[in-house]
Amino acid sequence: MSAILEIRGLRKQFGGVTALSGVDLAIEEGEILGVVGPNGSGKTTLFNVVTGVHKATAGRVLWRGRDITGLAAHEISRAGIGYTFQQAMAFPGLSVMENVRIACEHVRRTDGSYPWTTPQALLDFVGLSALSGDEARILPFGNLRLLGIALALATRPSLILLDEPAAGLNDRETATLVGLVRQFPGHGISVCVIDHDMKLMQMLCKRLAVLDFGSKIADGPTQEVLNDPKVLEVYLGA
Ligand code: ADP
Repeated sequence: MSAILEIRGLRKQFGGVTALSGVDLAIEEGEILGVVGPNGSGKTTLFNVVTGVHKATAGRVLWRGRDITGLAAHEISRAGIGYTFQQAMAFPGLSVMENVRIACEHVRRTDGSYPWTTPQALLDFVGLSALSGDEARILPFGNLRLLGIALALATRPSLILLDEPAAGLNDRETATLVGLVRQFPGHGISVCVIDHDMKLMQMLCKRLAVLDFGSKIADGPTQEVLNDPKVLEVYLGA
């Protein structure tokens, strides 16, 4: 495997607050990597710096070996990095189908093997076909999340960043989401997911990285990381 995204010495200060203090992290092609850590440990900031929402204070982000540090969010998006937010970014007054149609106009990849090239294929995949005429604003929360996944896939990313994808979902909805995300690597989409739900992470990720106070304190196979005394101390105060 080779790294699709490489983060080197990433540092982010907000005034006197150090949100990230020199993080190194590689996302390998075709993997589902989990990033965990307590509240305030820097997970969201990491995503925000990678996607160009925030500028790094120091350090570099390499995309397939190319330095993308400091590029604007739309340039990073166009390079092939997609993301979903905790709040799905759908147009509330448009139908489910119209939302997906619009997203399909901003295509990044054109390789022939990509399975979700039409709005209908996307809605079939996430299981929203029967609701295609409904306005996004009336969708229940779980379905809105699925629409968020469809919108992210519509642009044909090579990497998807998922920010707490299962927050607010019930067990059945979480299982649906896990079933969808597990199919991404087989279609050329690497995944990086942040969450503090360890059950979800164990279902999704073979590898975990752990942040604490802006530093990476562990990185390795999921079960090893979860048994690491340093990690247990952070989570259990043991
Ligand atoms: P997590 O996602 O792990 O909960 P965050 O990345 O949201 O952690 O936050 C890391 C630290 O950076 C926290 O101390 C938080 O208060 C601070 N922080 C995050 N975003 C901002 C911001 N826009 N302005 C000031 N401080 C921020």
